[in-house]
Amino acid sequence: MKIVLENLTKIFPGRDKKKQEEVIAVNNFSFTVPDGKLIGLLGPSGCGKSTTLYMISGLQKPTSGKIFFGDDDVTRLSAENRGVGLVFQNYALYPHMTVKQNIMFPLENLRGVDKLSKEEMAERTLKAAKLVQIDELMDRKPSELSGGQQQRVAIARALVKMPKVLLLDEPLSNLDARLRLQTREEIRRIQKETGITTVFVTHDQEEAMSISDMIVVMKQGVVQQIGAPQEVYDNPINLFVAKFLGTPPINVFDGTVTAEKLYIGGSAVLDVKGVADGEVFVGIRPEGFILDANGPLTCKLKSVEVMGRDVSVVSAHDNALVTDIRSIIDADNKVEAKATVSYTLKPHKVFLFSKETEERLRF
Ligand code: ATP
Repeated sequence: MKIVLENLTKIFPGRDKKKQEEVIAVNNFSFTVPDGKLIGLLGPSGCGKSTTLYMISGLQKPTSGKIFFGDDDVTRLSAENRGVGLVFQNYALYPHMTVKQNIMFPLENLRGVDKLSKEEMAERTLKAAKLVQIDELMDRKPSELSGGQQQRVAIARALVKMPKVLLLDEPLSNLDARLRLQTREEIRRIQKETGITTVFVTHDQEEAMSISDMIVVMKQGVVQQIGAPQEVYDNPINLFVAKFLGTPPINVFDGTVTAEKLYIGGSAVLDVKGVADGEVFVGIRPEGFILDANGPLTCKLKSVEVMGRDVSVVSAHDNALVTDIRSIIDADNKVEAKATVSYTLKPHKVFLFSKETEERLRF
């Protein structure tokens, strides 16, 4: 089931009666989520991710714009009638019910033509439990489960009604690092097995990049960029997106372009054909540095962190806008313990941005 968002906007009126400043939580968002894909909605706190998800679910009504599931306009349809499965950050399981009762609960409320027999309910419950691999814990209470297991029960409960659309709001936030990794892989597996169109909200770029078919990066209610994770990482449209994606983050410098050459400080570090003269922001991905004693970019060496396969070199530069410049170098390279470290740059890992608009300047 594809989901079409058409000029979706949500404005919250101001709470403070004197100031009455309204919040544009989501501003004119248009996008088609392709059928059967997993989309990661990504951005810093307050950028409008959850509001977008709640509008898709029907829990919140848009101020303007439309939502279609397939060809059906569902904009005015209530949450119960949209056929969506919702999973939140706090698992919100019923503490007095067993795992089985928790998963079965949404089925017991079905009425009319949708009403199921006891056998059908039991069958559907077991199927959902098996899908999330929790079928051996059916008689436990939520308090007797780990966080990861509780979240799986919540996912099974969302899946048991066989929703057309699965919506996940920061479902991994309450889990420890190892469980997060494991559970995100689980979510991906379940999504692929069921083929349910899924929208996943997170502020964690690594999480979104690792499991999404496509990511949507938002800032202050406005969609910045949509694309396959690698595509967005390799081709950020502006400085915000470039900074938001990647660990370690992109290294940003003040630079100047003169006669199609990029200067950082006094050194010409790269040819940048087609870029007009002027001051620019320069973003260099950590993997964009090549150790080279004769390289044009010389930084003060601060430390070298060995990470097994790679080495992370921490350095500083007067024109850097970050305190620590981090470059990732293959561990086969030896970093000499000197006062400085010099690099040449990989052109496709260097991005230039306008100082005025922070939009990308292509070369
Ligand atoms: P987080 O990651 O912190 O959950 P988010 O990206 O999901 O953030 P939203 O919860 O969608 O952000 O909020 C977007 C903006 O709308 C924020 O500025 C928030 O304060 C505002 N907002 C959200 N809900 C309401 C509401 N019910 N009334 C007024 N303002 C709201």
